[in-house]
Amino acid sequence: MHNNPWQRALAQLQRTLELTDAHPDLQNRLKQPDNVVEVNVPVVMDSGETKNFRGYRVQHNNIRGPYKGGLRFHPQVDLDEAKALAFWMTMKNALVGVPFGGGKGGIEVNPKELSGGELERLTRNFARELAHVIGPEKDVPAPDVGSTAQMMHWIADEYSKHVGEHSPAVVTGKPVAHGGSEGRTEATGYGGGYALEVILAKLGKEPGTVAIQGFGNVGVYFAHYAVSRRFTVVALSDSKGGIYAPGGIDVGAAEKYKNEKGTLAGFTGKDISNEEILTLPVDVLVPAALENALTKENARAVQAKVILELANGPTTIEADETLKEKGVIVIPDILANAGGVAVSYFEWEQNRSGEKWVKDDVLRKLKEKMESAAEKVWNESIEKNITLRDAAYVVALKTLGDM
Ligand code: NAD
Repeated sequence: MHNNPWQRALAQLQRTLELTDAHPDLQNRLKQPDNVVEVNVPVVMDSGETKNFRGYRVQHNNIRGPYKGGLRFHPQVDLDEAKALAFWMTMKNALVGVPFGGGKGGIEVNPKELSGGELERLTRNFARELAHVIGPEKDVPAPDVGSTAQMMHWIADEYSKHVGEHSPAVVTGKPVAHGGSEGRTEATGYGGGYALEVILAKLGKEPGTVAIQGFGNVGVYFAHYAVSRRFTVVALSDSKGGIYAPGGIDVGAAEKYKNEKGTLAGFTGKDISNEEILTLPVDVLVPAALENALTKENARAVQAKVILELANGPTTIEADETLKEKGVIVIPDILANAGGVAVSYFEWEQNRSGEKWVKDDVLRKLKEKMESAAEKVWNESIEKNITLRDAAYVVALKTLGDM
């Protein structure tokens, strides 16, 4: 049951409540989302036939500001997953100190099976269905698995038509030419790198070898950052499988190969499965794909000393217990991948003020936010003698309680 992400989110909330003295009103409010929107999205396919897709938007909590979180386009999207992801956004936004609440949504679809035109019609129709519940001061979506900057532009466009004025701040993660921020594409991967370096320094560890599961937006930019900081990326994988080269992988060339061939298989080293990548002898393991990658079954075989959770919810509760017993340090998702929403906040600020910040400024501000959040989590974990995950939730809950 705990592999159901929403049950897992509730269990984590309960655990955190036991470590804090949160006001009962706050406790009750966090136990369910404020609003759940479920829509039917009809799309005329290229064949002329009309197909219906199921879409969701969960607005978990807005104590700190507008609901904020991504839209996932994936065949396994469902309501419980969206509720969990929205809850994690509430906690993440509080932890990293951005004035947003938590939201998440998506469509049950495999975007790879749709043509460009079908995807555009699906996204625009979904935006029209959501137009009455989103807005720059109400709920601000962003990209997630399977969704892109281009899709965010289509949503901003549809929303602007709906309200009758140009409203780029209704979504973040747009292309830079359409009101996006410099540095947003890199933000989650780089942000994870900044947090990792703080924690490794506290542990007295040097940059070492890294295995990354998931070579999409987040995995690719983390890999580039890691290499620039003297880590050796020895394994990469995507939905079709992965590669392992103990001497190190040329990340730029791997990215090019994947873009050309649609897979990493055969690029260099040895072909491995998505399961094998999790248990390689590396210093740092980086799940950067989907939920529930680390389970009761495989956690025992993990050899990494540190796990950087760039994906949301990659570790089941049972796996978490096992990793704790083994002394593996887990840098939790709500800290590790908060860089994306931090720069989404910068994008929203730029849209509202009409400013355009240069990339160096964006990345400097991102680094400050991630380092400050990582320091707080580390200090809380030392003070209370709890895991980094529990500490991250405690810091987030205290911040929510201060509102
Ligand atoms: P993406 O769609 O760009 O990439 C996902 C990657 O995961 C792809 O390489 C895909 O092939 C791979 N993948 C899918 N299923 C897999 C499997 N079973 N095993 C291994 N790889 C698999 O998505 P993304 O934006 O990089 O998001 C990845 C994770 O990071 C998600 O959990 C997402 O919620 C989280 N996240 C993303 C952002 C962001 O800014 N994009 C921010 C915070 C958290």
